[in-house]
Formats: sequence, structure tokens, C-alpha cells
Amino acid sequence: MDDSQYGTRDKRGNWTPNETLQVAPYWTGQWGKMGQFLVGLVWPWNAFHMATAFLYLWFVIPDRETLATFSWDWALWLLFVNMAGIFVLYGAIEFFYYVKRIQGDRWRYNHKFPADNPSDVFWFKSQNIDNFLRSFFITVPLWTVVEIVMLWAYANSWAVWLPWTTHWVWLTVVILLAPAVHEIYFFCLHRLIHTPFLYKHIHSVHHNSINPSPWSSLSMHPGEGFPYMAEAWLHLLIPSNPICAYFTLHAAGFGAINGHLGFEKLELTEDTTLDSHAYVHYLHHKYFEVNYGGDGVVPLDMLFGTWHDGSKEADEKMKARFRKKKEKQNSRKPTATPAE
Ligand SMILES: [Zn+2]
Ligand SMILES: [Zn+2]
Repeated sequence: MDDSQYGTRDKRGNWTPNETLQVAPYWTGQWGKMGQFLVGLVWPWNAFHMATAFLYLWFVIPDRETLATFSWDWALWLLFVNMAGIFVLYGAIEFFYYVKRIQGDRWRYNHKFPADNPSDVFWFKSQNIDNFLRSFFITVPLWTVVEIVMLWAYANSWAVWLPWTTHWVWLTVVILLAPAVHEIYFFCLHRLIHTPFLYKHIHSVHHNSINPSPWSSLSMHPGEGFPYMAEAWLHLLIPSNPICAYFTLHAAGFGAINGHLGFEKLELTEDTTLDSHAYVHYLHHKYFEVNYGGDGVVPLDMLFGTWHDGSKEADEKMKARFRKKKEKQNSRKPTATPAE
């Protein structure tokens, strides 16, 4: 597929989409675009997270009686399934689009591939190995801990498990609101770990990948990985259902890959493509201090002046903000006393 009709490639080979990023139309009054926005919100990624939530409930988790008592048998089973799921989803995209490079650099924002650029900031100087090990052996086990506590709480009635038959209206509302809650939760956590101390000791690990790839998605310090996955515990605070909690858990776990795909679209066949929704977060990895949130379901970045829609104007605005910040920092520095 020809990506030149949809974007421009600069002299360095980096590709920028022609269309600027849009926040949810109900914030900008563009009601005509509402249908398109909703379809993009549901299909395919959130539909996929919902499908995996059902698959877990039907085929993976043991019955309520078993879950009521902790056992390494079911805990390790859950860890195994999560690892297998991540290995298949992230691994397949890594293998086909980054190792085999089946679509070359078409639709690729940064024409370089991480494997071609060894760097000292990573374990074994490799972004792929470093990110894989951190995702697989740190964040996925933490995800499983969150999941185990969540299921144990439901099974022991520490949390209210509403049945679908009697409370389907409320549970549908919970699911419809979940993407908005996810954006608010992620924005707040993310903004917090961008404060200087937490950034230096925690979040910088994730930002080592300036040019993110699939394994970068969950490559986090445990101080970030744990609260990131613990968003699912919000369901324990309200009357909800494990399906809804799994939807949130999987949107965080499996869904982390969205922002780290590195391509605007993945070519599935010659004429079929899959929208990645990656550009918002790609810009965050590129410029650090923009786009703390996601797609703009609740456009907090716009509200706080950190929204970057990919345009030249947004670039200028961002640079002006950085200049202002620098001037403020410089004015705080004590002036040197002249030598006597
Ligand atoms: Zn990221
Ligand atoms: Zn960040």
C-alpha cells in the first residue's frame, strides 16, 4: 500500500501523517465525526480486549470456590496464560513487522528500527532484549498479582460481583465508561511519574525507548508497572463484574502495545490495514513532555496545554513552552558572584 498519499516523508526518512490527531468530537463540537470516532474507539482494539476478557472468564479462570483460596496451582496457571498471550500478540507483531519487516518502513514514523541501533542504556545494549525481559519477567508477573488479588477479592465477596442477568444496564454503563476512566487514570499516573524525582528513578526506564517497538509497551520499572496494572482494582471499589474488571486489565496489559507499534497502520493483506492508534504516544516518546494521556476520549492534554496533534503549529507551541520553562529554571539559579 502506498503511504505517500496519507503522509509525508522527510529527508531522514521519517514519516508524518497528513491528518492531524483529533480528540473526541464532543469536546470540539464536531458532532458529525462522532460516528467515525466511536467506531474507531470500539473497533478493533477495545473489541479485542472485550473478547479476551470473555475468553479468560470462559476458559482460563477456575471456578469461584477454587478462587476463594489462594493456591500456587491457579496462580502459576494465570501467569502462564498471561505470558503466553503477551508472547503471541507482542511476539507476532515484533516478528513480522520488526524482524521479517514484511512492510518495510511503509507507515513507519521513525524509519530506523531499534535492532539496528545498539545503545548502552539497555541491558545487553539491545532495546529488544532489554524491553522483552522487563515486560516478560517484571510487568507480566505484576499484572498477574493484580489479577490474583482481584479474583480472590471477588470470590470471597470482598468486592460486589453483580450478575449480568439482573444488572446488565449498570454493567454496560461501566464498560462504556471504562475507556474514559482508563484515560483519566493513565493521565494522572503518567503525569505523576513525570515529576523530576519519580521520572529519574522510575519512569526513565520506560523512556529509554525513544523509538518504541512492541516490547517497549510493558517495559517499565516495577514502580510504574504495578500501579499501571492496578487500574483494574477500581472495579473492586464499585459494584461491578469480573468481565468489566478483565476489560480494564486487558486494555492496560494487552492494550499497552497500541502506543508502541511504531507504524500508523499494519498491513494485514494487500488491501487490508489495521489502524494502530500509535501516533499520540509515539509523539510522547519523541518529545517526552506532550501527550501524557491517550487518544483524547477525555482530552486532558488539551485541557492542561500539553496536547500535540502532530502539526507544525503544535510543534511551535511545544517549543515555546519548553523555552518558557527553561527561562524560568534559569531565573531561579543563583547568579554567580564575580571573583574578587
Ligand atoms: Zn510508552
Ligand atoms: Zn512518559
